[in-house]
Amino acid sequence: MKPILQNLAEMTAHRDHLRLEVSVLSTLLKLGHIVQVRALELFTQDEVLMLRPRSWSHEGQLVSSEYDAASDPQRIPLAQEPELAHCIATQGESAARASEQRHTLWLPMWLSGRPTACLEITQSRRFTRHQRDVIMGVFLVYQNYQSLLDYSERDALTGLLNRKTFEEQFSRQTGTPASPGEGEDTVRQWLAVIDIDHFKSVNDRFGHLYGDEVLILVANRLRTQFQSQDSIFRFGGEEFVVLLRSLTLAQARQALERLRAAVQTHVFPQIGHITVSIGFAATQQGSPVEILGRADQALYYAKEHGRNQVCFYEDLVNSGALQIKVAHDEVELF
Ligand code: GH3
Ligand code: MG
Ligand code: MG
Repeated sequence: MKPILQNLAEMTAHRDHLRLEVSVLSTLLKLGHIVQVRALELFTQDEVLMLRPRSWSHEGQLVSSEYDAASDPQRIPLAQEPELAHCIATQGESAARASEQRHTLWLPMWLSGRPTACLEITQSRRFTRHQRDVIMGVFLVYQNYQSLLDYSERDALTGLLNRKTFEEQFSRQTGTPASPGEGEDTVRQWLAVIDIDHFKSVNDRFGHLYGDEVLILVANRLRTQFQSQDSIFRFGGEEFVVLLRSLTLAQARQALERLRAAVQTHVFPQIGHITVSIGFAATQQGSPVEILGRADQALYYAKEHGRNQVCFYEDLVNSGALQIKVAHDEVELF
């Protein structure tokens, strides 16, 4: 076995959460009698905490659901693993279950006070004190490094993912082929750009601190509306980007319209009412720069036609309101 320090060095060479996770699992798998390791994602579905394997070992090899789109790991309610559920409810460090053949150890991961994932280590014999100490050491290095990575991916004011992270994620995703079908009820991914209307005047009238407060409140609204933490970005200034996954056109439109209406009706302390304009486009055709450009064009159309509205790029093109831009002198934005 390689010295543990060498494994730690390899682990922390990764700048990508998933590769880091796989590398940690591979380090753990090499520690003695371990038969299986898994990283379980923790997420909320209809207000119930759920578990879903994200990466796992299979006959000594590591597999990840995010690299292998065909695998569709089963999701289960956290309550089905009572020892782990209790550990998470009490913010404990670890949970364990032992039977004659199977000894399992769970180590939950916390990011900003939220349980986000859990490492699961299983072996056929009892964990010795020494083994637990080594596992815990590796886990703590992993968790510290993970939160450092997370910090570098987020915007300090709102806690949303930043533009750099969007560029990395989106470039990676748009390389994958689209699913067939173009109909109204086809489930697709959509990219929306959301921009606060006349935000400069909020700063001018109330000062920058109130402006910042508005940005935080709008970010919170986006979080509650779209739930999934990993697809909402603060793009810069008062502009946000949301990736809407697995929705039909009607559902995407509805979700964005609901957001627009929710901002319009919200009373912001001291400031009163503000509005947002939204442009969105489908993501299955074109480069990231082109897709972003389309959503942006729809946003500008909304801005020029009264603000406080949601515009869909393809609608505008079909109705002749927008011309398709021919990309002969496309600029590389990122
Ligand atoms: P429009 O409806 O056309 O979008 O008008 P606007 O005033 O929102 O747009 P404009 O781009 O002219 O102004 C954006 C302003 O956002 C300018 C800047 O003062 C403000 N801003 C950018 N980043 C921040 C920030 O982090 N905090 C605060 N308080 N203001 C910011
Ligand atoms: Mg604006
Ligand atoms: Mg703007």
